[in-house]
Order: sequence, then structure tokens, then C-alpha cells
Amino acid sequence: MLKTIALIAHDGRKAEMVAFVKDHYDILNEMKLIATGTTGKYIQQTGLKVVCKLSGPKGGDAQIAAMAAEGKLYGIIFFRDPLGMHPHEPDVQMLLRICDVHNVPLATNPATAKYLLIGMHEESER
Ligand code: PGA
Repeated sequence: MLKTIALIAHDGRKAEMVAFVKDHYDILNEMKLIATGTTGKYIQQTGLKVVCKLSGPKGGDAQIAAMAAEGKLYGIIFFRDPLGMHPHEPDVQMLLRICDVHNVPLATNPATAKYLLIGMHEESER
């Protein structure tokens, strides 16, 4: 069965997300991808299939947190903007907390996200 992971990037880090996705296209192409609305649209432009949830500020982060709480996500790649203010900051904090409550792998920068994908891939090869 395909592993499901969620991808989210704040506006200041969407370019970084697109570059990351292109660099890891083959591995991501073997997974089921979920994303917040705008991030998902950018990722779709790379040719990957993505199920888009609501945009983050409209509740997309909360939808992804709910999936994590229900055990539906194998991991989350969330490129947060550490330098910006966000109207949905409570949802962002909630998502991070839910990942820790349920021990869901969470990468908030490309260096960690790379190892998350490598680990997932190795596990599925076993
Ligand atoms: P977006 O949401 O992908 O719809 O921009 C991301 C976020 O701001 O959490």
C-alpha cells in the first residue's frame, strides 16, 4: 500500500518546497501525497499527483492535523516560515503538537525532510 505523507509550505518557503519536490520526485512519486491548497497547486505543476486540502489559513493545517491524529499520515513535511507572522498560527502550533502527541514524523526543513524520505523509502524496501 502507498504511504501517505502531507506537504505544507508557508508562502516564504514555497519556492524551497517546489525545489525539494523536484529533487525528490521519484521517491515522492511512489507515495500518496496530501497538501494544503496553495502548496498542493504548486506541487501539481511538477507533475506529481497531490490531493489538495483547504488552504492553510482557511483550515488546511487543521485538516492535516486531524489526519495525523487519526493515524492516516506516515509523515509530514512542513516548511514553516520562521520569520513571518501568520493569521493561522494557532493551527500551526496545533499541527506540531498533534505530531508529537501521536509520534508522527515531522520535518520542518529540507535537510530533515530528505532524511525522512530516505528513512521511509528504506523501510518500504525491507
Ligand atoms: P497553503 O497553506 O499551502 O494553502 O498556502 C500553507 C499554510 O500557510 O499553512
